[in-house]
Amino acid sequence: MNVTDETDVQCPYCGSVFTIALESFEGRQEFVEDCAVCCRPISIVITVDEDGISHAEAHGEDE
Ligand SMILES: [Zn+2]
Repeated sequence: MNVTDETDVQCPYCGSVFTIALESFEGRQEFVEDCAVCCRPISIVITVDEDGISHAEAHGEDE
């Protein structure tokens, strides 16, 4: 099955929650996305567990 998943992340600066689309992939993915509300760069780490469930963590650059 080839699905595009979505997951919610929360901005570590202003607390806004937004949804990001995930292409199907395996393992771990890191990227930086600017918050649509406060325009600050959020480091997002996506991991996929053995069951194919995606987990997203958002970190501020100054953490
Ligand atoms: Zn923000």
